[in-house]
Amino acid sequence: MSSQETLAPETSAVMNTYARFPEAMVRGEGVYLFDEKERRFLDFYAGIAVNGLGHCHPHLVKTLQDQATKLWHVSNLYHIPEQERLAKRLTANSFADRVFFTNSGVEAMEGMIKLARRYHYVDGNPNKWRIITVQGAFHGRSLATISAAANPKYVEGFGPAVDGFDNVPFGNLNELRSAITEETAAILIEPIQGEGGIRPANMEYLKGLREAADEFGLLLIFDEIQCGNARTGKMWGHEWADIKPDAIATAKGLGGGFPVGCFMATEEAAKGLVPGVHGTTYGGNPLAMAAANAVLDVTEKDGFLDHVQEVASYLQGKLDQLVADHSSIFTSWRGAGLMIGLQANAENIEAIKVISAFKDEGLLTVGAADNIIRLLPPLIIEKEHIDEAYAAMDAAAKKLEG
Ligand SMILES: *Cc1c(COP(=O)(O)O)cnc(C)c1O
Repeated sequence: MSSQETLAPETSAVMNTYARFPEAMVRGEGVYLFDEKERRFLDFYAGIAVNGLGHCHPHLVKTLQDQATKLWHVSNLYHIPEQERLAKRLTANSFADRVFFTNSGVEAMEGMIKLARRYHYVDGNPNKWRIITVQGAFHGRSLATISAAANPKYVEGFGPAVDGFDNVPFGNLNELRSAITEETAAILIEPIQGEGGIRPANMEYLKGLREAADEFGLLLIFDEIQCGNARTGKMWGHEWADIKPDAIATAKGLGGGFPVGCFMATEEAAKGLVPGVHGTTYGGNPLAMAAANAVLDVTEKDGFLDHVQEVASYLQGKLDQLVADHSSIFTSWRGAGLMIGLQANAENIEAIKVISAFKDEGLLTVGAADNIIRLLPPLIIEKEHIDEAYAAMDAAAKKLEG
């Protein structure tokens, strides 16, 4: 049976929730992926901002192999030394004092939402449980997080929304302030919207959110699942605005491909989460912790963030050129570091067509709302890979122009 047949929705036993490309990737090496026919692709989506160190990074492979022969799982009934170590490392260089490990982004989001409500509960304000969110947000696919983001595309057909979220326009401080009531517990935002089309919040807006939260006694909580873990050239996206949140959720880049997430908070914000009120069976298990510690071994090295910023500005310069040369195909690019959205010109073409044309030239990217093509390469890319990506994008654009 060829892969084409295996993957056809009507012959697959996998639920039909994705419109997948026909290729099946079977092997990865650094910034390259190989399909069943050994065709090589330059990976500029990195498993959707996950494989920050590329594929089969030797240090990650070695660490996981070693851990696999020692211990996989014990549950959180016992202390997990690698978990203690990772939490110490994540809090040493951030606003946070406490970390809770999860298996995915959405599980981290659910935990952080619970943290915000519980904080006010133990503070003697059980009436404060609503969270202000913004339009265009994406926080995951659980019932609470689809309700939080309030994107009609994701809530339709799933019954009444989970109550407790007040969705306001993104970027408008006045509207957000006027949505604050006696019942508001927190403000939740992605410092840079990912699925929403790589829309960065501006610095003044983020600072204004901090001020509003302080003024009204709210928690400021960030979804850094996509923009965290060095993706933007700083360890956390909010660091660009020079403000401190009360809690953040992260995942994607944290394990370099191993499923792991976390939410972390200040001691104060985390005070409601005491033994018995929240938990997870798999979260923070030794295998996941080994993987995430190995990722940090690399991303915490001197010069790593500088490298990300340097190659990012090189890529951004190339994109200026690309947009200027092919204005019928591209309107602009936006984003920060290696979290970039290249906008296809909606007058002439849909992003998915451009993504396909890039793939035909051997370059893998991923779409987002607002006719955006996301460029989320591994953070270890070098200028030569960017030149290769540029050549592919330029060639694809020329063909699309016909
Ligand atoms: C991917 C993503 C999520 C959901 O993470 P999963 O691991 O898919 O559950 C939530 N928020 C943001 C910003 C994301 O990019």
